[in-house]
Order: sequence, then structure tokens, then C-alpha cells
Amino acid sequence: MEKYDAIVVGAGAAGLFCAAQAGQMGRRILVVDNGKKPGRKILMSGGGRCNFTNLYVEPAAYLSANPHFCKSALARYTQWDFIDLVNQHGIAWHEKTLGQLFCDDSAQQIIDMLLDECRKGQVALRLRSEILEVSRDEDGFTLQLNGVTVGAERLVIASGGLSMPGLGATPFGYKVAEQFGLNVLPTRAGLVPFTLHKPQLEALQTLSGVSVPALIAAQDGTTFRENLLFTHRGLSGPAVLQISSYWKPGEWVTVNLLPDSDINTFLDAQRAQRPDQSLKNALATLLPKRLVEVLQALEQIPDLTLKQLNPRQQAQLADSLQRWQVQPNGTEGYRTAEVTLGGVDTHGLSSRTMEAQAVSGLYFIGEVVDVTGWLGGYNFQWAWSSAWACAQALAAE
Ligand SMILES: Cc1cc2nc3c(=O)[nH]c(=O)nc-3n(C[C@H](O)[C@H](O)[C@H](O)COP(=O)(O)OP(=O)(O)OC[C@H]3O[C@@H](n4cnc5c(N)ncnc54)[C@H](O)[C@@H]3O)c2cc1C
Repeated sequence: MEKYDAIVVGAGAAGLFCAAQAGQMGRRILVVDNGKKPGRKILMSGGGRCNFTNLYVEPAAYLSANPHFCKSALARYTQWDFIDLVNQHGIAWHEKTLGQLFCDDSAQQIIDMLLDECRKGQVALRLRSEILEVSRDEDGFTLQLNGVTVGAERLVIASGGLSMPGLGATPFGYKVAEQFGLNVLPTRAGLVPFTLHKPQLEALQTLSGVSVPALIAAQDGTTFRENLLFTHRGLSGPAVLQISSYWKPGEWVTVNLLPDSDINTFLDAQRAQRPDQSLKNALATLLPKRLVEVLQALEQIPDLTLKQLNPRQQAQLADSLQRWQVQPNGTEGYRTAEVTLGGVDTHGLSSRTMEAQAVSGLYFIGEVVDVTGWLGGYNFQWAWSSAWACAQALAAE
């Protein structure tokens, strides 16, 4: 049997980073992954440029049944630490918007950086490996892989969530947690587009591709101010992806399609200047023309001139544009979701080391844990921070 100090399951963001750090501190580490290549999600991320962290990382940007859990790891290995590493590797980057940092060139550079760090730590990497069985005795953990048995005192689960099964996602991490008696909270797709009920979808079909700035609110009062995109399946764009993590089936979201304008002040001013102008043309200076046409066809915008619009109609119009109530039919699910909400219950883990409190030597890091960030580099930062915390623990004793 091949023996290591620790085996890391998952050659994704968290697994590679943890292995590299622990390896560089003198531990013998094996990383096992089911894929042909390491870091497949990293390669797809950020539209191929990997939004690797965010300048404004803070615990409030993470969803978890225990919102305090992420604080320690995020404070000990910060976005600035990761930016330093990226700089050491000479990777050029830029801030796109809202503190989101992307590679100038390609997400492959982040994978190459992680692999280079793994080489410095003499980390062994076994790809295309299926894990048939995990067992534990007084010497540690034994993993039956296809063709070989490997063992280690410590086992780190970094196998990610369920989103994008096409990129190798499996429920492996949740199964291991359950096998060792840990609680796993129900999972659901996050950062995912909404689908709409058929009549509404048909009514909005011609808007596919139209994007507007919006202020979007969930029923719990969470709001995001980003772009909303109409698609042929429903609604997407950063505003919708963000709010999807706060939405539950059956709930409504409220959309303000004119987050930067006071519609009443605007219409009053327009009416004073050009009373015979059609309402439609006036609104087309604020909103995409196609959207105005569709809303008129749906009788949300009356076919009137500005001087014909009475105060009651104006109030109704303001309501439908600034408090548009949408009840999604559902989401596009794990097939297109960027993340998985829920997962290994943090109440059973140490926030300092990521070790299971009831099973010494067993660690969970990255997305498999019930910590999910906003869109914008927050999820990778959780992968780096939780991996770093775990690596310190692997090197400590
Ligand atoms: C399309 C897309 C774009 C994204 N863009 C961004 C972004 O720009 N910024 C951001 O912060 N986040 C982004 N995310 C989220 C981010 O990719 C994840 O949060 C992050 O990769 C989680 O890291 P991880 O190491 O925990 O899991 P992963 O990176 O998913 O790695 C898990 C690894 O475990 C392996 N594995 C799974 N099951 C098994 C098994 N049974 N046996 C062996 N190996 C297994 C998988 O093959 C994979 O290599 C994006 C996600 C997607 C899907």
C-alpha cells in the first residue's frame, strides 16, 4: 500500500492549494481526482479568465447555516495573501467591476500556478481515479482506488459540490461525511438562472438577449444592484444569479427596472416639456426600446401620451417598473449553477482547522462545506482560505 501523510480528494481549487501548502511544509501529500485534468472548474471560471478573488471579501458575502464559521479562515488567509501569490507568479490581472479580480490572459494561469506550487511541495497527483471505498482504522484512512490501495493518517475532502456534473461533480464528499456520522445539510443550486412559468416566458420571449441594470430583492430583504438579462429560458445575468442563492421555490422576487431614476420626477419633467410625446417614446430614453414595446403589449405601459396619463395610471406604471413582482417557476438547476448551497454542516467542523470534531484526521474544505459565497470571486477565496487553514493543521503535528 502506498502511504502518505495526507490524501486530498479533489484536484480543484481547494484541494490543489491545500496540497501545495502542506507539501511545502514538509508533508507527503497525494491528491486524487476522478478527472483527466486538474482544475477543470477553474478553467471554465470567470468566462475563461477566472475571477480568482474579490477586493471586498467579508463574511457577510457568504451564506451558511452558521454565518460565523467562515470568519476565522477568511481572516487568516485573505484576498491580499492570494493576490501576493498571483503577483509572485507574474500573472497579470485587473479589476473588472465591484472588486472582482480576473486574469488578463487565461484561467489556465491560475491552474499552472497551483500545479507549480504543488511541484514545489512534491505533491503526488493521481488523476482518472475512482475511489471505490474509504475505510479508517487506528493507523488512519485507507482508500481503494481503481487498481491501487493508498493510505494516510489524514484525509482531506475537497471534492466540491454538485454543480456542473459535466465537469466531474459528484456527491462523494457528502457520502464520506455521512459515512463518518457527520450531518449534511440539504443541498440546492446557487448562482443559477431562473426559469419562468410558460405564459410569462412566452410573453417575454422576444426580449432574449436584452440586459438592463436592476435592483433585485428576495423575500428576506436581500438586494443586489447588478444587471438582469432576459434569456430564452427565463431570467439570468449577475443580479439574478446573486438573488437565486437567497430564493426558495414558491417565493417571489421584486425587480426595480429603473434603479437609478425617480420615474415620477422624470415623467413630470417630460410632460412639462413635451406633453404630446407618447409615454412609450419617453420611457424608451430610460429603458431598452424592445423592453418598452413588450411591456406595452403586456399592458404594463399604457398606450397614451404624457398629458393623457392620469396620476393613478402613473402610480400604477411606477409600480410595474420599479416593483415588478416575479415568481420564478424554478432554476436551471445544477446543470448550469455555479455553486451548491448547503453541504457538510459546519457545526461538526473546527473553523480553525476544518477538521471534523468527531473524527480526528478527517477534514472538509472548499465548496463541499456549507459555506457559499456571492458571485464575484468569493467562492474561490473560500476555497483558498479554507484550504490554507487545513494545510496549517496538516503541518502542525
Ligand atoms: C462555470 C463556473 C464558473 C465559475 N466561476 C467562478 C469565478 O469566476 N469565481 C469564483 O469565485 N467562483 C467561480 N465558480 C465557483 C468555483 O468554481 C467553485 O466554488 C470552486 O471551484 C470550488 O472549489 P473546490 O476545490 O471546493 O471544488 P472544485 O473546484 O469543484 O473541485 C472538486 C474536484 O473534485 C473532483 N471530484 C469530485 N468528485 C470526485 C470523486 N468522487 N472522486 C475523485 N474526485 C472527485 C472533481 O473532479 C474536481 O476536480 C464557478 C463555477 C462554475 C461551475
